[in-house]
This record gives sequence, C-alpha cells and structure tokens, in this order.
Amino acid sequence: MHKIVLIPGDGIGPEVAEVTREIVDKTGVKIDWIVEEAGTEVLQRTGELIPQSVFDAIETYRVALKGPITTPVAGGFKSINVLLRQKYDLYANVRPVLSYPGIGKYSNVDLVIFRENTEDLYAGRENRVSENEVHGIKVITRGASERIVRAAFEYARQNKRQQVCAVHKANIMKMTDGLFLEAARKVADDYSDITYKEVIVDNMCMQLVMYPEKYDVIVTENLYGDILSDLAAGLVGGLGLIPGANIGKEHAIFEAVHGSAPDIAGKGIANPIAMTQSAAMMLDYLGEVKASASIREAVYQVLKAGKDLTPDLGGTGTTKKLMEVVINAL
Ligand code: NAD
Repeated sequence: MHKIVLIPGDGIGPEVAEVTREIVDKTGVKIDWIVEEAGTEVLQRTGELIPQSVFDAIETYRVALKGPITTPVAGGFKSINVLLRQKYDLYANVRPVLSYPGIGKYSNVDLVIFRENTEDLYAGRENRVSENEVHGIKVITRGASERIVRAAFEYARQNKRQQVCAVHKANIMKMTDGLFLEAARKVADDYSDITYKEVIVDNMCMQLVMYPEKYDVIVTENLYGDILSDLAAGLVGGLGLIPGANIGKEHAIFEAVHGSAPDIAGKGIANPIAMTQSAAMMLDYLGEVKASASIREAVYQVLKAGKDLTPDLGGTGTTKKLMEVVINAL
C-alpha cells in the first residue's frame, strides 16, 4: 500500500484530481490517498492558503500528486507551486511532450524538457529601488546547473535517448547563463555516448515550431523551461495533455504543466489527461511500471479513437466522460 498525498488544488484542479484518482485506483495499485487542501478556495474558507498539515503530510509521505493552484498576477501572495519546489528542493522539473495520432498540429514530437526548478528569476529576489525602478535578480549557481544537466543526461542514458540540448541566452547574460552553460559543458563531457547541443532560447522557440523532430531531451533554466514547455504543449494539442514531475532527493511532487484554467473551471469540461499522465509518472517513480504502462496505453487508445474528447481537443465530451472511456480502455 502506497501512501500518497493528494492536493487537488483550485480552479479545475479538484475536477481533474477526482477523475485521476479513480483512474489510478482502477489500475489495481493499492494507494491510500492522504487528501490535503491548499489554494485560493481553502484560503477563502479558512484564512490559510497552505495549512501546516500540507507540509506535514509531504514531509511524512514524501510523494504527492498535486492539482494546479492559482497565483495572483502582479501582486498578492507568492506562488505556492514555486514555494513547494524550493522548500523541498525539487530541483528537476521533468515534462515529456509527445504527439498522439490525429491530435494537435504536429505528429512528430517526442521531447522531454528538464527545467531547473529552484532558482533563476523564480528565486523571488525583487527589489524596489524607487517608485519608478525595480530590480529582479537572476540567481544561477554552478551546483544547481550541474545537477539538472546531470539529471537530463542520466535520463537520456536510461531511456536510450540520443541527444541532450542545453537552451540558454549566454550571448546576452554572459555571467548567469554563461555559468549555466559552463556547468552544462562540464557535465556533458561525462556522457560521450550522447550528443550534446546548445541552442539560444529565442532560436529554440523557432526551432521547436519548425523542426521539433530534431530535438530529444532539452535541459534549461527555470524561466526558459516554463515557456518552452507551454510552447511545446501547443504543438501537440495543448496543456490538457502534458504531465510533469518535480523531483528532489527526498521528495517528489507530480503535477500537470497546466494551471488552474479559471476560464473553464467549474464547467466539467477540463481535460484530465495531463494530470492522469502525471499520475503515471508517479507510478513509475513508485516502481509500479505495469500500472503506469497500462494508463499510457489506455490514454493512447482513447486519443487515437478520438471519441468523447474534451473541447480543448476539439470534442464535446466532459471530464467525467473522458474518464469513463479511459477506464474502459484500461
Ligand atoms: P492555464 O494553464 O491555467 O490555462 C491556459 C489555457 O489552457 C486556458 O485557456 C485553459 O483553459 C487551457 N487549459 C489548461 N489546462 C487545461 C485542461 N486540463 N483542459 C483544458 N484546457 C486547459 O494558464 P493561465 O491561465 O496562464 O494560469 C491560470 C492560473 O494558474 C494562474 O493563477 C497561474 O499562476 C496558475 N498556474 C499554476 C500552475 C501550477 O499550479 N503548477 C501552473 C501554471 C499556472
């Protein structure tokens, strides 16, 4: 029996979390779900955005499956998502992006993005210098850069991937991105069996739109990784499909790339596949590889059949209906 912390989150989070839980339970893997609430809805109810019990549960059980949590724009509280990643040193944000038959604009995408998850401009060091001037400090360290690049190469080796591409802007940010690149080159020297490439981030945006098939594993800093993963999601059918994992040495939190989608929250039409695929990544992490493979196969068959899909994929289905067809395929 695995004990897993389930944080449904807010917006579409509870809708996709509920059906994901049902799908995972249907694989037969025994999971005791420890449900913990965090986010704007719990804030309104209890005055606490992230109750202490959430931290206690993560510290006790070490593995969590999390729905999205809303973060206010330009002011308000800081991102809970970033806080959790920094607090538990979940340094590797792993985001696989894959084409499915008949879905999305591209049929030839098979990428895994490794995004550094603890520093960069997300370190939260912003200072107001005067009423009309603010500074944001970009933090890049050799240690954090080396470990994310090593994680990307290790993944490539274990999964028989051919290439790791470091994405940077070291032509302009010579010190910060320069250090990231220096660390990447040093780690790449240890993996002569894998091709190492470097691409400047603006060019990478064009490369991914024009020639996504040329890329395999991408490793990059926090902000570029965030932007590139949404861009890559757009190539293959959108955010409703793309899972993610935040992995540290001692803890791991699995969550979709997408946010709380306030434009569709409460309508029952959110696509649960991104969160379900995040749960499949969690099952891999737990060693339940048969169950994760069966979820992936079921999702593949459902997407290939193209019936009962949610509106983001061009269908008229609902979250629950899509869950039912995934469970039938299981
Ligand atoms: P978003 O990912 O919530 O939505 C972007 C677009 O994609 C919207 O049109 C939305 O309807 C669609 N979309 C996203 N997920 C979908 C799904 N499962 N099914 C169908 N359509 C889906 O991004 P946003 O609108 O920029 O952000 C909304 C909020 O989410 C913000 O407060 C942001 O800070 C937060 N956010 C949280 C996380 C997280 O919890 N890890 C990640 C990203 C954004």
